[in-house]
Amino acid sequence: MPVYAGFDLGGTQLKYGLIDGFGALLFKDKSATPPTIEGFLDLVGRLWKELRRRAPEPIEAAGFGIPGIYDLRTRKILQSPNFSGLDEFDIQPALARVLDVPFWVDNDANMAAFGEWAHGAGRGVQSLVLLTIGTGIGGGIILGGRLWQGGCGFAGEVGHITVNPDGAMCNCGRQGCLEAEASATALVRDYRRATGAPDGITAEEIARRAGAGEEAARRAYERAGYYLGIGLGILLNLLNPEKILLGGGVMASGELLLRPTLDSARNRSYKATFDCCSIERASLGNDAGIIGSAAWAVRNLASDRGRA
Ligand SMILES: [Zn+2]
Repeated sequence: MPVYAGFDLGGTQLKYGLIDGFGALLFKDKSATPPTIEGFLDLVGRLWKELRRRAPEPIEAAGFGIPGIYDLRTRKILQSPNFSGLDEFDIQPALARVLDVPFWVDNDANMAAFGEWAHGAGRGVQSLVLLTIGTGIGGGIILGGRLWQGGCGFAGEVGHITVNPDGAMCNCGRQGCLEAEASATALVRDYRRATGAPDGITAEEIARRAGAGEEAARRAYERAGYYLGIGLGILLNLLNPEKILLGGGVMASGELLLRPTLDSARNRSYKATFDCCSIERASLGNDAGIIGSAAWAVRNLASDRGRA
């Protein structure tokens, strides 16, 4: 059976792996993200050799999820907030020198959404939105059974919907974005502000404290859920998706975040759109980006061959 490779580049790690045509993960591993472009291309070259060695059959195609805004028209990365070396980087020819198979590049959250839709909790629906809630908030949209990339490739930036006009400053330079109010970073910031807790405390530790009955910890999750729900309310009324999938590290807190999120989303959307949508946890976890980018390569290879 043919084999496909997926890469998922993050600010700290480059995850990579192989899937078969059914989306089963055959191999995965990760490596620290190098600080420079040269180091990054070097690393991809080495990992590519490793993947070829490990693949039970020749690798047919590869997908590459990158953090940031990828312009489908110029095939350049416009802006990558967590890896500024990639800004304006012409990634297509650089990767073509390394990857000797057809490959496709897209935004990492789009790739994760495609993975969940093709092989995860989103299987079988025609419309979904995936939100990945971690250090930041990423988003990807499937509409009409297709990844919705938008006019230039910039769709799905759910993390930068304004949910609090007078709110916290966001990494994108604007104020009160969903990411600035409901990410792990925002949750920790709000908790520390309320309690004076030391730097270095994590969202997981705050969840543990909330579970142990600490009021300030519970309130930090309530607040994040309130704003996350405002974001979901916008998505529900705008898109009427069949599913909204919530992934990322913060979702490990379970009901602690989910309950206030659902309460807030219910209050901010039409009852009909809320009732139509199943809001649930994503299922592929940290593998969503690898599986999604590889599955995206499968899809594009098939449609290219269809056109040929
Ligand atoms: Zn923003």
